[in-house]
This record gives sequence, C-alpha cells and structure tokens, in this order.
Amino acid sequence: MQLKVLCLAFAPAVLSAIIPDSIRALQFAHSIDRPSDLQGINWFYAEAECDSRQRDTLFRGFKDVIQLAYTALPAPRGIGDNPIFKDFWGYGYHSGPLQNRFNTIFNNLGKAGRFPSYGNGGKGETNQLNVRCKDYLSRCKSRILAYVSGNNMVLCPDFWSFGFPHLKDRVKGKPTRALDRLITIEHILLHELMHVDNAGFLEHITDIRTTLVGESDSAEIPGGITAVVVYGVQRCKKLAKKKGEETPNLQTLMNADNYAWFSSAYYFSKAWDITVNEPESYIEGSVTGNPYAPPNRGFKYADNDFGEAEWTAGL
Ligand SMILES: [Zn+2]
Repeated sequence: MQLKVLCLAFAPAVLSAIIPDSIRALQFAHSIDRPSDLQGINWFYAEAECDSRQRDTLFRGFKDVIQLAYTALPAPRGIGDNPIFKDFWGYGYHSGPLQNRFNTIFNNLGKAGRFPSYGNGGKGETNQLNVRCKDYLSRCKSRILAYVSGNNMVLCPDFWSFGFPHLKDRVKGKPTRALDRLITIEHILLHELMHVDNAGFLEHITDIRTTLVGESDSAEIPGGITAVVVYGVQRCKKLAKKKGEETPNLQTLMNADNYAWFSSAYYFSKAWDITVNEPESYIEGSVTGNPYAPPNRGFKYADNDFGEAEWTAGL
C-alpha cells in the first residue's frame, strides 16, 4: 500500500515537469531565426554536401519539428482515452508500471522534438547531429528517404525528389482524413530523430521487425520467420493491438514510426478539428484506393542500424 501511494504521487510530478518545459521549449523554438541557432545541429557536412535550397528546407524542418512532436505534450493526463492515442499505443496505461511507460512515450517525443533546438545539453560537436546530403554509407535506395547512423542523419535523393510539403504549409491546405497522405518534411525528420540515441531516450528506438496479422512482405528474420518492418499507419496500429484491445504492446515504444504517425495524426486532427487517423484505403469504411497498396504508399524511412537485440520476431 505504501508503495502504491508513492507511485501515484510520483506520476503527476513527472507529468507536471513535462508541461512547463513544453511551453518553454516552444517559446525558444520561436526565437530561432538562423541555422546556427539550432544547438543540436552541426551543419559542417551540410555546408559541403547540401545545396542552399536543401539547407533552407532542413533548417525550416528542424526548427518546426518541435511543433509536431509537442502537439500532444501539454495534455498527456487525459490523452490515454483519446482514440488516436489508443490507435497508436493501445489501451490500458492507467495504473502501476504501465503509467510510467505512458510517461515514457511523451518523454521520448519531447526529447526528439527539442533535440534540434536545444541539443542534449552537452557541449561540443559529439553531442550534435550531423546533417548530411551525401549517402556516405551507401544505404539510399529507391524509396528510402533517410537514415541515421550514430550522430549522422542522411537525407537521401528520394527525400528531395518526392516534394514532401512542410508541416505548416500542408496544414493550410485541403484537409483529409487519410493520414498516410500526410507525410511532411517534419514528419520524416521526427521519425529519424527517434533513432538518434544522443537525444537521451531510455532505450534505442528502432524500426521494429515483427510478425503482424495480414502483413507478409519484406523483412528477413533469422529462423525463416516471415515478418514485416513496422512502417506506415496500418502496421503501426496493428503493432499497438498485437496483444489485444486492452493490453498495450510495449514494442510500440521502441518503434519510430508509431511516434511519427501518432504526432502527425494528433497535429492534423487538432488543427483541422476532425479525426485524421485512417489509412488511405479505409476512409469512412469504403475502400477509396487499392486496399493492398503498400503502407506509406511504399515509402520507407531508413535502413536503420540494428543489432541482434532489435530482431523482435515472436515477442
Ligand atoms: Zn526508421
């Protein structure tokens, strides 16, 4: 009983620490007006590898990614019952150890969102993210948009050639409930920032490879198990429900795309005052496109660094 009281008393303290911090961080982001103001970004490589238009896009993207990541942060207390939250994280974070995991979601989003603006509080280049336009590890392939390796984030040719809009431009455009049509520059950068360990997450956030009902393509997993990389609206939602409607699947906390899609769904729903969380093919119960189209319209974010611990089949 004693322990339970302590746990309950502890949780609101953590949440109240997030709220004023989010307001300060957003205020700070508004004061950024040139690339060197972004304390978490090292532009050394970008100066040589990216052209000035690309650097402008990245500056605006890294400056605004905090808007996307922080949309849900001021209201975490009641958000556990929000349908968008439940779609991407599952239901049942209301008590005990799961409440701490609930806090982890928002702490991780906060850390990723403010990393470009603030850095991680450390000094020197090793604490910053190198932004690069050169595929120095030869991982850019067709429809691979970006990747992260250590302190380096590479934006691939397809990131530039598909013409993704900026968040603040898209939100002024025509609303849609089709969430997977809403890939923005900032969405992609947030996905990649979730892989940057220097932001200070409790554990490495990867692109989960696992088995999902009705999904069968791509990923190779040791042991000959057919699995998928959990990219896209539909797969992220399936991952959240993998253990049933009432039991959150905590693998979602280690999957970058769950953070990115949750944030985009919440951002556009709030801005447009409609619920934006359906895959393109399932709008309002009718199939409006090819129901078998690849999630994300086939876009992938990265071949992220991964090790044995990140092979997650069967969990
Ligand atoms: Zn990724």
